[in-house]
Amino acid sequence: MTPAVPTALLADRLRRAGEVAAGHDVDLVLVTPGTDLRYLVGAGGESHERLTCLVLPAAGHRAPAALVVPRLEAPGLAGLPLEELGVEIITWTDGEDPYLLVSDLAGGPQRMAVADAMPAAHVFGIRDALPDVAQTLAGPVLRELRMRKDDAEIAELRAAGAAIDRVHARMGEFLRPGRTEEDAAADIAAAIVAEGHTGAAFVIVGSGPNGASPHHDVSGRVIERGDVVVIDIGGPLPSGYHSDCTRTYAVGVQPSASVREAYAVLQDAQERAVAAVRPGITAEQIDAAARGPIAAAGLGERFIHRTGHGIGLDVHEEPYIVGGNSRPVERGMAFSVEPGLYLHGEWGARIEDIVVVTEDGCERLNTRTRDLVVL
Ligand code: ZN
Ligand code: ZN
Ligand code: ZN
Repeated sequence: MTPAVPTALLADRLRRAGEVAAGHDVDLVLVTPGTDLRYLVGAGGESHERLTCLVLPAAGHRAPAALVVPRLEAPGLAGLPLEELGVEIITWTDGEDPYLLVSDLAGGPQRMAVADAMPAAHVFGIRDALPDVAQTLAGPVLRELRMRKDDAEIAELRAAGAAIDRVHARMGEFLRPGRTEEDAAADIAAAIVAEGHTGAAFVIVGSGPNGASPHHDVSGRVIERGDVVVIDIGGPLPSGYHSDCTRTYAVGVQPSASVREAYAVLQDAQERAVAAVRPGITAEQIDAAARGPIAAAGLGERFIHRTGHGIGLDVHEEPYIVGGNSRPVERGMAFSVEPGLYLHGEWGARIEDIVVVTEDGCERLNTRTRDLVVL
């Protein structure tokens, strides 16, 4: 069972979502199963060809809040406090047109926002049922809520960080010369579960030249003594909140002086970017803080991705720590700081911590050494 989010908290989220929607000139927000729905009503169900959809009126719009759901799936909603939240359940049976139910409920909107992850089949079904209503994305509305974590969410992210740190602490058991990346990844995935996650959302074991591909998955490559290995791992806790942490290891021996020098630059860059985090600094300034020392060392071309991403119910969510994002960060925002260096065909390195913005700085949720540990 997933831990219940207090009903009062859900009620507050629904109310605020309605207010933010009104502020964005949206009359209605439509949310199909996924993390947005989980955030708003406490659980999501699954999205497939049968429409399940939360119809959420903006503040001041006359539609009722309702959850349109296939009759055969209604029993699965029994645990949700929908009645207390004032969300009416409207069931439909195979053969009915659920999109017409949505248009019946809609209350004559001018503009409606659809969840970013709504399947296109449903977006088009709703458009056909409400052909004169402008559609826009709900992301800009819902991110205003989801980006700012409350204390309970931060506690979950902190627990997730501690759990993934415990997996990194055991890396010496998994990364051994002669084993393949796949062997190591299978053990790491099991450890991710053993340490309290419900699953491994991703296990990147980038050994030797594979480390130069930031989103390398795993392969049959045999890990050799002398390899530099990027380990980027994470998964959700039962609450749905994710961990995500990268450390880079050396197998068996100290790597060459040139690798160690470049790694020291990366470590300094990550440190400076974390040190820069405080309320009011913009996302792009944090990105620049990471990029500066790397560029100064002549390695700018080797850092080929943004510095970080928000994290919560999704592994990647707002705010993105990237050039061009002039949004100031605020207390309660949680995101990764993860600069990397990628030397094609040779090796790669990345250091990633999740941080939460505090009143005057930030709290790191991953606390294991960021040194290039030799296993
Ligand atoms: Zn990533
Ligand atoms: Zn990440
Ligand atoms: Zn990561």
